[in-house]
Amino acid sequence: DASVVWFRRDLRVHDQPTFLAAADAAPRALALFVLDPALLTPSGAPRRTFLFRALRSLDEALGGRLLVVKGDPADAVPRVAAAVGAATVHVAADFGPYGTRRDEAVEQALAADGRALVRTGSPYAVAPGRVRKADGEPFRVFTPFRRVWADHGWRAPADTDASTVTWLDPAEKVGGPRAVRIPDDDPVDAALPEASEDAALARWREFLDDVDDYADARNRPDKPGTSRMSVYLKYGLVHPRTQLADLAKRRSDSVESYRTEIAWREFYADVLFQRPDSARGNYDRSFDALPLASGAAARVSFDRWAEGRTGFPIVDAGMRQLREQAWVHNRVRMIVASFLVKDLHLPWWLGARHFMRYLVDGDLASNQHGWQWTAGSGTDASPYFRVFNPITQGEKFDPDGEYVRRFVPELRGVPGKAVHQPWALPDGVPEGYPEPMVDHKAERLEALARYDRVKEAR
Ligand code: FAD
Repeated sequence: DASVVWFRRDLRVHDQPTFLAAADAAPRALALFVLDPALLTPSGAPRRTFLFRALRSLDEALGGRLLVVKGDPADAVPRVAAAVGAATVHVAADFGPYGTRRDEAVEQALAADGRALVRTGSPYAVAPGRVRKADGEPFRVFTPFRRVWADHGWRAPADTDASTVTWLDPAEKVGGPRAVRIPDDDPVDAALPEASEDAALARWREFLDDVDDYADARNRPDKPGTSRMSVYLKYGLVHPRTQLADLAKRRSDSVESYRTEIAWREFYADVLFQRPDSARGNYDRSFDALPLASGAAARVSFDRWAEGRTGFPIVDAGMRQLREQAWVHNRVRMIVASFLVKDLHLPWWLGARHFMRYLVDGDLASNQHGWQWTAGSGTDASPYFRVFNPITQGEKFDPDGEYVRRFVPELRGVPGKAVHQPWALPDGVPEGYPEPMVDHKAERLEALARYDRVKEAR
């Protein structure tokens, strides 16, 4: 008698409600991960490699008892369940567009054989779809969402570890899909964070020691002021419930501010759940009327942006941080996104796709809606007419130019904040660094003129 625990975005053993459900259902359980080409192919090397490392670490935590198979889950999961005679397959619910469809297909295939898919919890403190206005409608604006989300509340962390469940040895499985080895790392140029639950919890504890600096430091890309927990949240090496429980023991503006960031993650998951089409197109449909750059010249400007050779130092530093660390500071994500959309007039989804390929924390809900916030086409987005000035943003948030010098070696000889305007140096732009690819003032006006078409469409 066994059940199956099917891991997806919850590669941890602590605070794992699915373990409790599985242990209730049967005396033993098989731990399963399915390598799904539909998710792996578009992932990009940093995320694939991080995932493979996290799986190796999870397998170790489970005493080498993680069964890894490859294929379409709607085929693989029911076959594994049949091979171990499991009546139930336990998962944390997925609310993304692909995950929802996949799980429905798996559920149907299991049901055809008299088995059940049991969903316990989700990657969020409050599952998408639960936080509603008084009239039952979903929120379109963050601040009231955050209030109702906090009032809704969440469970305490589940008290689990690897020993909560008696794990079946996958070698005992008779039939079903063949076990495969966890793939070797894809070659990645970026330095990735350590991919284990222990590393995630250690980083979280380290951050908690300094959490009271967060409100001041979080906007400064030159300082290590943010938690760097995004990739751990993405793959569920830690659950936000664990973080929220730790934060509840403290009180400060910084604690409040961090809780708000977690709420943004939950808000965007909710928005994507309510409007799955917003992953691919404008949440605000009037933005479909925005005239966009296209053709060969647009491709050339996209490439210069992607390579970090725009001639705007803070933009280039951000795009190079993306390649070097597979992570970019939030402030700089906004600056480079604004540049792509409002200085180059390119569609936000091109930038979003590039981010998803290179970010290790790439997450459809946070990424697509972070882009749409900047582009002005999202829920309570930054108004389109507010165009980020890459020079003043640089001078304000990287006041001594340290961030730029760290990632743009051509500018390492330029002291202080002068690094944000290399064209104004007495000897001109240092050798090897490009001249600005556009005139920001002119492109700002151009962006506003294009925006008039959106207003007319309303
Ligand atoms: P902290 O400042 O320590 O924040 C703590 C946690 O709160 C983060 O780990 C994250 O889970 C959540 N969070 C913080 N800010 C946001 C936000 N604006 N929206 C949603 N959640 C947030 N975040 C991703 O996790 N994946 C993405 O693919 C992603 N793409 C983005 C694209 C753009 C254009 C923008 C503007 C933002 C994007 N973000 C994304 C949000 C944010 O930039 C990152 O979550 C953050 O930089 C991660 O670093 P951290 O963990 O040190 O953040």
